[in-house]
Amino acid sequence: MINDETEQLGSLLVKQPHVAHLHAGWHFDNSYARLPEVFRTRVNPTPVAQPRLVLFNRPLARSLGLDTAAFTDRDAAALFTGNQILPGAEPIAQAYAGHQFGNLTRLGDGRAILLGEHLTPGGERFDIQLKGAGPTPYSRRGDGRAALGPMLREYVISEAMHALGIPTTRSLAVAATGEPVFREQTLPGAVLTRVAASHIRVGTFEYFAAMGDTDALRLLTDHTLRCHFPDRAESDHPALGLLEEVMERQASLIAHWMRVGFVHGVMNTDNMALSGETLDYGPCAFLDAYDPAAVFSSIDHQGRYAFGQQPSIAAWNLARLAEALLPILHPKPETALARANTAIDSFSERFHRHWLVAMRAKLGLFSAEPEDASLADELLRAMHQARADYTHTFRNLRPHATAEPIPPADDAFTTWHRRWTERLARQPQPVTEVALLMNAHNPAVIPRNHVVEAALAAATIQNDLAPLERLHAALTTPYDAADQPVGLLNPPPPGTPTCRTFCGT
Ligand code: AMP
Ligand code: MG
Repeated sequence: MINDETEQLGSLLVKQPHVAHLHAGWHFDNSYARLPEVFRTRVNPTPVAQPRLVLFNRPLARSLGLDTAAFTDRDAAALFTGNQILPGAEPIAQAYAGHQFGNLTRLGDGRAILLGEHLTPGGERFDIQLKGAGPTPYSRRGDGRAALGPMLREYVISEAMHALGIPTTRSLAVAATGEPVFREQTLPGAVLTRVAASHIRVGTFEYFAAMGDTDALRLLTDHTLRCHFPDRAESDHPALGLLEEVMERQASLIAHWMRVGFVHGVMNTDNMALSGETLDYGPCAFLDAYDPAAVFSSIDHQGRYAFGQQPSIAAWNLARLAEALLPILHPKPETALARANTAIDSFSERFHRHWLVAMRAKLGLFSAEPEDASLADELLRAMHQARADYTHTFRNLRPHATAEPIPPADDAFTTWHRRWTERLARQPQPVTEVALLMNAHNPAVIPRNHVVEAALAAATIQNDLAPLERLHAALTTPYDAADQPVGLLNPPPPGTPTCRTFCGT
């Protein structure tokens, strides 16, 4: 508001707004920009015609140590489209490669520009990246831009993932550009401000491996260890340490995805972050009916990235990381290969361990019994047969028969339910505690695709942000069923065709 008044008073006042946000608490320390030229290219965002702030994540801004009162909506719009560059920022596009649907390609930030790394007052380091900020030397034939709908989608779903307790990049703002982007249709353009522990990907390692640049691989390994696994930075076997830590984080991450029914949709190696954060919300979606073969992406014809494929695709991607690290795993190729293979082979055990922890919590199990995995598998099989809703089934499981069991009480489910009730009886915790455990791991509200799509249509076609804001608000407390709008909880009506989701290009 101060800003508008300043405008009206015209030249009588010294224009303060453009300096006000400089004191908002930004503190850049750009370690990636200091890496050699092969890692990145300096490039500024291309200014946009009419910056307009659409969404601003004030709680996230505060958690980064920013004083949100220090800048107006207009300042924020200028910052979060890249029209104004903060002092201390050193904008770069990062170089990387990636296996896309199995094929290795040189990529790089074609439409994202890393402004720099912000240090919070607590000493945490975060990439501040503008996605859709204009062309870079890596843009190939792309325009470097993004459409408003997909950027709003990433904002809402990434923030939902965070609230679900799942490691993820965050979304600080969406700002409209006032410029059209030309896809199959003409769409309004926007820029998303993404906050991440880093944007180092499996594909970043593949990039240097493909060039045979062992020095760069060593530098990148050291840099990644210092960023994400400082305890391992001084180890005698840094590359092996990195590989093991990344395996563990990915195993845990994918188990989280499986716990809530999240389908990433495009698990190319350039979309797998070494930090263990969920990265790149393109054609992702949450399951309604449980189906391991569920695919939402319009381009995933073979089901490569189907829900149930995610653990094995993660292992495949990590094998590409191990392969890239071979030259620095050990000077002797046979020893390097043996180490890589041992690490790769450990993934399935690591994943299973995390998955079992998640499934026990979903089933209210405090103790461990050898048959727990089969108990979970049997329920999933019954759900698959009944096409039961993944979220509702777990959320509505009750140790004692309820009036309205979900899924419909067919034989398979009734048998399973008896087995589960007996299992619960063998642990000392009362049902109240069981219910608390279950409710903390089985969300009541997820961003269901039909709800997300309707909210995005309202936002982009009718210019009405209210449904999206309602959805976002509900998703901030996803484990809390009380007072949630019923329309957000329900699966799509029977017969609704599966939503197709598209890469955010
Ligand atoms: P994504 O599908 O978002 O993971 O992107 C894969 C690659 O394509 C990355 O290198 C992106 O930078 C690039 N890319 C995607 N969209 C565009 C665009 N509109 N302009 C330029 N590059 C793009
Ligand atoms: Mg990507």
